[in-house]
Amino acid sequence: MTEDVRRVFRMDNEVLAFRFTATLSDRAGMAPRERLTDPARLKMWLQATGLDATDVSLTDLKDAVELREVIYRIGSAIAAGEQPDSKDVRTLNTVAAAGHAKAALEGDLAGWHLTETTPVGDALGVLATDAIHILGGPDRSRIKNCEGPGCAGLFLDTSRGANRRWCSMNTCGNKVKKARLAGS
Ligand SMILES: [Zn+2]
Repeated sequence: MTEDVRRVFRMDNEVLAFRFTATLSDRAGMAPRERLTDPARLKMWLQATGLDATDVSLTDLKDAVELREVIYRIGSAIAAGEQPDSKDVRTLNTVAAAGHAKAALEGDLAGWHLTETTPVGDALGVLATDAIHILGGPDRSRIKNCEGPGCAGLFLDTSRGANRRWCSMNTCGNKVKKARLAGS
């Protein structure tokens, strides 16, 4: 691997599906940052996630970005207390149903086995399934958009008081703290 994955992507979101949506960052800012700029980047992200897809095409990249935005829109709708778009929900369910990944315990890590014929479709199926568990799970009322400057990234607020405001204390939380110090 030529690039360090943590320099290219934000990998600190606890929820897999939301970590995926963070491959487009600074969503509410002046210049959103697309990090899935080419198929190699998608392959890199998938590998870092334990989804080892060998061949990633431009079509795969397009499918991945479409799924990512579907997850983001549904998550943001839920965070706002609104009904998600039914077309988005259909797309999410279709991608989840099309995957053929098999979960496997390897050593002390959970991993997935992808098919040789549709590895990226299988990987996207894993991401869509993870999204379904979160978006329709018992903690769905804890889904939030980050209040960090320009971020708006999705996160699951697992704090006891349900009062977390940032997708990550290390990035957005720190930015807000620094801005406050500079302003005082
Ligand atoms: Zn954030």
